[in-house]
Amino acid sequence: MRINSELCSGCGACVAACPFGALVIKGNKAEKTDTCTDCGACASACAFEAIQARDGKKGEIGKADKTGKAGTDSDDASSGALDLDSYKGVWVYLEIKDRQLRGVALELLAQGRKLADEMGQELAGVLLGDNVADLAGEVFANGADWLYLVEDPCYCHYDADQYTAAMTELIDTYHPSVILLGATHNGRDLAPRVAARVKTGLTADCTGLSIDSETGLVAWTRPAFGGNIMATIFCPNHRPQMGTVRPRVFRRAEPDCGRTGTIVRVKTKAATSRVKWIETIKSLKEAVNLEDAEIIVAGGRGMGKPESFALVSELARLLGGAVGASRAVVDAGWISADHQVGQTGKTVAPRVYIACGISGAIQHLAGMQGADVIIAINRDASAPIFSVAHYGIVGDVNEVLPTLINEIRCSQNSGSERGMQCARPDAAATR
Ligand code: FAD
Repeated sequence: MRINSELCSGCGACVAACPFGALVIKGNKAEKTDTCTDCGACASACAFEAIQARDGKKGEIGKADKTGKAGTDSDDASSGALDLDSYKGVWVYLEIKDRQLRGVALELLAQGRKLADEMGQELAGVLLGDNVADLAGEVFANGADWLYLVEDPCYCHYDADQYTAAMTELIDTYHPSVILLGATHNGRDLAPRVAARVKTGLTADCTGLSIDSETGLVAWTRPAFGGNIMATIFCPNHRPQMGTVRPRVFRRAEPDCGRTGTIVRVKTKAATSRVKWIETIKSLKEAVNLEDAEIIVAGGRGMGKPESFALVSELARLLGGAVGASRAVVDAGWISADHQVGQTGKTVAPRVYIACGISGAIQHLAGMQGADVIIAINRDASAPIFSVAHYGIVGDVNEVLPTLINEIRCSQNSGSERGMQCARPDAAATR
């Protein structure tokens, strides 16, 4: 981006238009500062054609349509520097833990397969690690055609510098069109670093992925404006199209052990790291594994008080499930944040989700709508949770839960024990 001081009137329109605050007016002329990203927004705003984008044209950022072809976008892609058609294939970054593929990697392989088929392209997994080649069979069985395998002791543990350098090198070499990463701690760290290096966009925390039939672009869907709307985002001008997806948003496919694929072993250039791994210390706190739970009993503000929350825990225990919670009760300090389900909590997809005293705010629904069966208990028949529930009980949780707990205890006890150990339902209901 260049400023022609002869033409510049010092009007300041560019300063107002710059989203990065990278322009200043000095001596009645515009000057760019170090924070300039060459986005071209200033060039579009300048009525005097005093600012030229890198390609020498007056920039028109924001005027390109989602095909990336219309408009005279001043970025590399539409100015011809980036050949979009040379980018092919869908990649899934395969995150591992304790030398095993994480669940989200398998979920993304299943979804990546669908996208690749719709695009008429191939699916590849990207695996960084040390001595992890034995995972290749599982990668192919779960849908990949190719596996880019980068093995080196330096990839034994996740290291932001090393992994970013390796992923960047792979992208620069093989030009994938789409890359999916899990929205895990590591994926959320790695994805934006890589996107910045390869100068592309990143849609974080997607809850839906599809192919736009008109353009063939990936339509990345994610909650926006505090979860009040679902935004669909396109990346028309840059490659690869990148996004992160939370665990349990998509389901794994049934593995096909007869599938095979091709392994591409890649030796990456050595990269310097600012991190030295010393040891891994596992959290002493008992992990709340909501993402993998088959049954979740979740409680909300309708439980009334922290002591009543014990009913939620008891029902979960009896059913062999995990305890979930709405943000309202996490914020109130009734239970720790790792139990929170929803947009700012965890995304879960159990077989059964029992929502107790939860209203069903959109931010909560965003995290649990993937459950196979949703059972809601709420005393307000018009609570939004009933619009997603398969079964609903309109009633007071302090009556319904003790009755349920008692019935389950009874059903778990056999024969003669049953009569002795069951409290009368009316006694339970008045507790
Ligand atoms: P309430 O909305 O107060 O609902 C309580 C329900 O209990 C009501 O429906 C009521 O009828 C019922 N009830 C009351 N007494 C009884 C009784 N005795 N028996 C039976 N039913 C009873 N929320 C999340 O849960 N997860 C998130 O990740 C999340 N992220 C958010 C992110 C943002 C940016 C924002 C702005 C909000 C977020 N929220 C999230 C908060 C969300 O908007 C709601 O405020 C929250 O989910 C409400 O929790 P609740 O349903 O427990 O409480």
